[in-house]
Order: sequence, then C-alpha cells, then structure tokens
Amino acid sequence: MRSLVAGNWKMNGATADALHMAVALRAAAASLPCDLLVCPPTTVLHTIANALIGSPVAAGGQDCHPKASGAHTGDISAAMLRDAGARWVIVGHSERRADHGESDALVRAKAEAGAAAGLSVIVCVGETEAERVAGRQNDVVGAQLAGSLPGHFTGVVAYEPVWAIGTGRTPTEADVAAMHSFIRGVLTARFGAAGTETRILYGGSVKPGNAKALLGLPDVGGALVGGASLVAADFLAIAAAAPVATLSNTAAGG
Ligand code: PEP
Repeated sequence: MRSLVAGNWKMNGATADALHMAVALRAAAASLPCDLLVCPPTTVLHTIANALIGSPVAAGGQDCHPKASGAHTGDISAAMLRDAGARWVIVGHSERRADHGESDALVRAKAEAGAAAGLSVIVCVGETEAERVAGRQNDVVGAQLAGSLPGHFTGVVAYEPVWAIGTGRTPTEADVAAMHSFIRGVLTARFGAAGTETRILYGGSVKPGNAKALLGLPDVGGALVGGASLVAADFLAIAAAAPVATLSNTAAGG
C-alpha cells in the first residue's frame, strides 16, 4: 500500500498561498512514492481543489459538522466540503478536541457524516504528555479509538501525540512503532481483515530531517504534517522520504 502524506494547514493560508502550493504540488506529485493530500482552511479549499484538478493530489477539509445541513451558524457540513472539491476530511484533531471540547462521540458522528458524504476520513487520536508520563498512552488511545471510530470504518487513523504537535519533539522510533502496533491490534480485533489494511499515519513534528526514519517504521502508513506542510519544499521533501510501495503492500487503502 502507498503511504499517505497529508498536510494540515490549520488556520493559515490565503488564496495566494493556496495557488502557490497547488503549482508546486502539481509539478512534483507524479514522481512521488506516496499519495498526497492537502487540507487548507475552508476559505481556500475550493481554490486549491480547483487548481489540483487532473493531478494526483487530493484536497480535504480540517473538520466537519456531524449534520448534513441546518441551523448551525459558522459550521461546515461534510457535503459542503465535498461540494467545494474536498475528497477527504480530518476529524478529531487534538486542537479540535481541546479548543472545542470535542468528545469521542462527536468525533465518531463527524466521521460518519464524512463517510456518508463520500469523503475519506482521517480520525486523529493521541495522548497528552501527562498521560504518556503516567504510562497511560495505550489506555487513552484505545479509548479514543473505541469511541471515535464508526462501526463500519474504511478511513485512516492518525496517531498524533499531543505533546509532539508543533513542539519539535517526537516520540522515539521505538515508541512510535509500539503505538502503531498497538493501534493495528485494536483495528484488527475490531474490524478483522479490514483492520490490517487501514493506513495509520504518524503526526507530530514530522520534518524533512526525520521523515525517512518515521515513515519507514512498521505499521506507519504515512504522515499527518502541520507546520512543515506550509512550506512546499519541506512538504515535498517529507513526501519524497516515504518508502516505495512493494508488491506485497500495494493494496489500495482508504
Ligand atoms: C498536526 O497538527 O497535525 C501536526 C502534526 O502539526 P506539526 O507537524 O506542526 O507538529
């Protein structure tokens, strides 16, 4: 299976940035060893999705409302993201969970809404620093997976330790591999054979300098990249560091 390298711009970027990024990604995408996704702010989603038409690079949203439409001022539905050109949506990012008090149940409802609208869904999980220091990371991530993943799940899981996001710190390679193995076990226990195919992304201070080591770890199916995805050269360098899919791992994934 090919790795997926996804960029989350968060609340950064205007139209000029979107067009610049689209030009750079279009030019490089065909020669990359991985699938590429960019998730800009909703204000420029349509612009970047349009500029990427005909390229192998996908566009996605950073969040969606669990309902398809209605009286929810300021919110965006999954169908609206799709209408704007998105093919993916991120749900349950730790900044949404922290800034907006999003529960696992809400994240699950958003994941279901995304899938119902025809979007591929990335569900984020990850422990805080205090939880890791207390040795509770598997309990925390296990509970998040149990509560956040829909009963039928064909999307992608992103493991993002909260303490590694935007800090320049990452877990050790052994800790990343251990957590991805744990998540794989949870997925196969719940979804059977389908759980062996689910891509599990690592996210948290992925940079050009550490991408090759992180992306090459067992059960790491790609990366969710924040800060470094704002600079085309850095984002493309991370993508270029993804392992080349072999014949034994080329099955298509969500
Ligand atoms: C993120 O917010 O999903 C993220 C991984 O950010 P950064 O790469 O900046 O740590």
